[in-house]
Amino acid sequence: MPASPASRARQRAWAARRGHAAQGRLLDELRHAAHRGQLQLAYQPIHAMRGAAPSNFEALLRWSHPLLGDVAPERFIALAEHSGLILELGDWVFHAAAAECARLRAASGRAVRVGVNVSPLQLASRSTVQLWLLHLQDIGLPPDALTVEITERVMLHHPEAVARQLQLLAEAGVRIALDDFGTGYSNLAMLGQLPVHALKLDRSITQGLVGSERHRTIARSIIGMAHGLRMQVVAEGVEQTAQAAITHEMGCDFAQGYWYGRPLSAAQAEQWLRAA
Ligand code: C2E
Ligand code: MG
Ligand code: MG
Repeated sequence: MPASPASRARQRAWAARRGHAAQGRLLDELRHAAHRGQLQLAYQPIHAMRGAAPSNFEALLRWSHPLLGDVAPERFIALAEHSGLILELGDWVFHAAAAECARLRAASGRAVRVGVNVSPLQLASRSTVQLWLLHLQDIGLPPDALTVEITERVMLHHPEAVARQLQLLAEAGVRIALDDFGTGYSNLAMLGQLPVHALKLDRSITQGLVGSERHRTIARSIIGMAHGLRMQVVAEGVEQTAQAAITHEMGCDFAQGYWYGRPLSAAQAEQWLRAA
């Protein structure tokens, strides 16, 4: 017998409650993940197109739960952002990435640089950036060893506070990269207002390059604009030889993607530096 509209509504409400309960349980688990040793950073190599020895990575957060297995960042980062837990998680990420960057520098003798993804809420808080800069001083890591990766979403709330924090970071020498560029609103006015050192060309653009002249035209325009503004360009999501060749020929300064290397453990990142 088909369900009546009333029972369908009841089922929808039940599913929504169940969804909320499941999210709530996941959030509880996430709150304890750091001190239970379930969090790790993976380091994906960023390839320099003009022949420099490899020394750049992006730090990507991994949560490995004993029962749930590996939980995808898409699932838990949004949850952490909505609940505010991202402030704690983001601090954990910053400290772990800075420590690993210092360790990789000491082990390889190279000027290793690490990119750290930062959520909007972290930049709305006034003390975060100052504490980070003090921490870099404490561990003796030059600020330009770190790149803070932000997306345009940072400007949706408290844009003035966020712009001040980014200015503070940039004045101290930390590099700023605009992640996933070419999706969202690609707010060009933002590029004139914020201290951005690099644009990361979104994977959807990189992956459209081989088959589509329109994508190539868009990419060429973005790269030209970025270089005109003295910003470097990183092509994200390079998976194929042809994509690597086109992004190189178009003048991207860096490229990142499975074709160059998957995210690595800290120990593998050290080996990667040794082997190159
Ligand atoms: P993102 O910052 O744009 O990071 C790049 C994502 O693309 C990573 O996914 C990486 O594993 C994936 N990727 C790299 N190369 C390729 C490729 O060739 N093909 C494909 N299909 N994918 C590729 P991941 O690690 O799942 O992270 C997803 C997103 O989660 C990140 O996107 C970032 O926005 C967010 N995230 C990860 N770690 C953190 C963190 O520590 N803090 C914050 N706030 N966000 C994070
Ligand atoms: Mg990123
Ligand atoms: Mg990205």
